[in-house]
Amino acid sequence: MEEENNRTETSIKTSPHRERICKCGCEESFIPKRRDQVYKNSRHANYAYNHGKRKQKTHGQKTAENQLRKNDKILEKYYNFFKKELAIVFSLNLVSDGFNHSFYIGNESKEGFMYSKSYNYLFYEYEKNGRKLTRIIKQKNKVYVKR
Ligand SMILES: [Zn+2]
Repeated sequence: MEEENNRTETSIKTSPHRERICKCGCEESFIPKRRDQVYKNSRHANYAYNHGKRKQKTHGQKTAENQLRKNDKILEKYYNFFKKELAIVFSLNLVSDGFNHSFYIGNESKEGFMYSKSYNYLFYEYEKNGRKLTRIIKQKNKVYVKR
C-alpha cells in the first residue's frame, strides 16, 4: 500500500505537465502532452472553436444593433435641439454622448455630401479649422424604425 502511494506520487511528479481542466467547457480534466495544450483532444478543440465563433457573432450583432439605436437617439437629440432642416454639431459632443461614426446602415448622397445613414437620420462628418463637425439631416424616407 505504501509502495503504491509512492509510485503514484512519483509518476505525477515526473509528468512534465500538470493535470488541467479542458477549456471547452466540458469540465473534464486531462494531462496535457504539450505545454500550450488547453483542450483534451481535437474533438474538444473543435467544439470550443465552433461554439466560441457562433457566440462571438451573436454578441457582435447585438452590439452593432445597440450602437445603431444609440446613434439614432443621439442624432435625434441634436437634430431636435437645433429645430432646423440641418444641424451641425461638434463631433466631440456626439462622441461624448456615446455616438460612434463607424456604425451606419448605408450611404446616401445629398447636396454633394455622401451621408451615412442611421435609422431616421443622415450624418456626415468633416473637418473645419482642425475641428471635426457632423452634419445631421432627417431622412425623408425612413428605412425602418427600431426601438
Ligand atoms: Zn472539453
